[in-house]
Amino acid sequence: MKTRLLKIEKQLDKHYGTPDRVKKADPLDILIGTILSQNTNDDNSYKAFLKLKEAFNTWDQVAELPAGKIEKIIKVAGLGKQKSRAIKDLLNYLKKEKGEVTLSHHKLMSDEEIIDEMTAIPGIGLKTTSCLLLFGYGRNVCPVDTHVHRVMNKTGIVQTSSPDRTFKEIAQYVPAERAYHLHTNMLKLGREFCRPTSPACNICPIKKLCDYGMKHNSPGEKRINTRVLLLDTI
Ligand code: SF4
Repeated sequence: MKTRLLKIEKQLDKHYGTPDRVKKADPLDILIGTILSQNTNDDNSYKAFLKLKEAFNTWDQVAELPAGKIEKIIKVAGLGKQKSRAIKDLLNYLKKEKGEVTLSHHKLMSDEEIIDEMTAIPGIGLKTTSCLLLFGYGRNVCPVDTHVHRVMNKTGIVQTSSPDRTFKEIAQYVPAERAYHLHTNMLKLGREFCRPTSPACNICPIKKLCDYGMKHNSPGEKRINTRVLLLDTI
């Protein structure tokens, strides 16, 4: 698994380049942005995020709102009830248990401790927490969404039935300092070439390293990826 993952990471790097994330965002912004992004596209979740940020100066103010009010503001992101509840529970937890609406206590915590703490809050799962670790704290953690999960399985890096399982299997093999590139480039590949139906194997830049691609050479067209990557814009 490790060798194949490294080869694919290198090939993706060759194809897409190595984007450096220079922007430093507030970790709580990242976490709430990721909650809003669950099961919707980046455009709509970013709109919902901006609506919240424009309406209130601080997350403290949002913590004071009833969940129903938050639900109305973030409607464009879909699943309003579920997401507003998760945001409210998160902010309440920080206020009550940590005494302030920030994630500053994470500074001294390990990845595993942060995962345990955050995933105990309803509506915050492993993918959401791993986005916080990577985008909010720059830790070497590769979040696995449906696109990354699909590419990891089609290529044969893993054989798993869920993104969370894939995350756990690859965690120890992610090359040092490369998690951001691996995640970003695999996500792009999943959107542009390795789509759920009709993957464009015949023109895929990692076909020679892919079990499915070498067996099926499925013909398809590259889809131009015009969407913003949400967590790069926060
Ligand atoms: S070769 Fe095909 S199945 Fe493999 S990663 Fe590329 S598009 Fe996906």
